[in-house]
Amino acid sequence: MNKPLDLAGLGIGPFNLSIAALLREVPQLRTAFFDRKPQFNWHPGMMLPGVRLQTSYLKDLVTGVAPWSPNSFLNYLVQNGRFYTFMNADLPAVSRAEFADYMAWVAEGLDNLHFGHNIRHVDFDGDLFHVHLQEDAEPIRARNLCLGTGKIPAIPESCRPWRGDDCFHNMELTLRQPDVAGQCVTVVGGGQSGAEVVLSLLQGDWGRPERIHWLSRRPNFDPLDETPFTNDYFTPAYVDTFHGLPEEQRLALVRNQKLASDGISSDTLEALYQRLYEHRIAGGHSPRVVLQPHRTLEAMTGPAPYRLAFHNGLNGGREHIQADRVILCTGFESRLPDYLSGDLRQRLETDRHGQLKLDSDFQARWDGPPDRHVYAVNAGRHSHGIADPQMSLMCWRSARIVNHLAGETLFPVTGRVDLVDWNGEETLNEPVEPDRDSLLAMLKNNI
Ligand SMILES: Cc1cc2nc3c(=O)[nH]c(=O)nc-3n(C[C@H](O)[C@H](O)[C@H](O)COP(=O)(O)OP(=O)(O)OC[C@H]3O[C@@H](n4cnc5c(N)ncnc54)[C@H](O)[C@@H]3O)c2cc1C
Repeated sequence: MNKPLDLAGLGIGPFNLSIAALLREVPQLRTAFFDRKPQFNWHPGMMLPGVRLQTSYLKDLVTGVAPWSPNSFLNYLVQNGRFYTFMNADLPAVSRAEFADYMAWVAEGLDNLHFGHNIRHVDFDGDLFHVHLQEDAEPIRARNLCLGTGKIPAIPESCRPWRGDDCFHNMELTLRQPDVAGQCVTVVGGGQSGAEVVLSLLQGDWGRPERIHWLSRRPNFDPLDETPFTNDYFTPAYVDTFHGLPEEQRLALVRNQKLASDGISSDTLEALYQRLYEHRIAGGHSPRVVLQPHRTLEAMTGPAPYRLAFHNGLNGGREHIQADRVILCTGFESRLPDYLSGDLRQRLETDRHGQLKLDSDFQARWDGPPDRHVYAVNAGRHSHGIADPQMSLMCWRSARIVNHLAGETLFPVTGRVDLVDWNGEETLNEPVEPDRDSLLAMLKNNI
């Protein structure tokens, strides 16, 4: 590894794996990817029974830009002798376990992935990046980086002192296998993960609890909007238009489009409602299930049994409950990774929320030499919109990065059939900058 790499990929989740899979077809670039896990393993702590992908299997690591690639989901099915049975099964969506297995299968076939390496810190010597993996070992040197170490679980401040066996983020759930028999369990968070956890608790996956409280800040248990025009937010044309908007407008749109990416799948909602109904008419006393939307957690005191205080947004009241166990389905936060040491961190431009400013090809703006790039995946919700943390446009983003790195269009990145004219292509008007008044009106109406 003495010769500098063209690209060092930091982290091997789905997003960097997709880049690595495309790079297999670009042998002229020297690349290597590193991850601290011993092997590829997709969100093992949330591999609950029966959970399904929220995205089509065609939106896999490569197909949208390289359908000929051997790393497609369809080739995985063929190579594993499951193509016909998979088609006959006519599943509403692929299980997360099967998709995770597909990605692990791709990872096994790539020779530029290196597992079992914790990235300790990264610096820049004026010409090359140095990626330090072990205390005494020589650093990996690279001309360019791709940051792909994902997001970190968001823990509400009042819950932080109590983190442990009885109060934890949902991403640790199946790794902990808690015994909840006879307990009062509170699930905080009304998105897809919260719904999956409540469904699993109802099914008695970890014993039969005495009581389940499910709190959500949202006004209801809101569905994922998967209708066609909303899905147009997950197209290259929309993302490119979005990227060109002023920052305030982008942030307002991201807030407004929340349910296009963060709502609960309709099949999960149906399963949950039907389960609750059957439980109720069967006279099921245990567990007692209390659903509490429109509630914002304000305080938590402990140790267990914990006391949680929350605000009821509907009637303005303050409410309290007791819980033996608290499962936090409170999402993720995006922060600059700790391994970016002082000097390099200072040189990267961030917005007022501390997020990297990304150019259209996903390079972070920085004050380094123009031929050295820090690409970033899963870091562009503010710059590229709600599609960025999802897999829908994963391989398109990978293609943009690989094309930029290679300096030529190796993979197609523009759709030719766009049904919505997002950018004024079909009018005689010149595109206009939104004026201050319309921007304020948008923010006021939360548009
Ligand atoms: C439970 C769950 C289900 C989801 N389902 C869907 C879905 O159905 N459809 C969809 O479009 N999106 C889904 N998403 C959203 C998104 O697609 C995934 O979160 C996806 O895993 C993001 O990929 P990533 O590569 O950015 O990060 P991650 O998957 O988080 O991978 C980051 C990797 O970086 C490694 N790492 C971190 N720090 C270091 C370090 N210092 N040194 C070395 N390695 C490090 C980690 O070990 C990890 O392997 C889901 C998210 C969750 C949480």
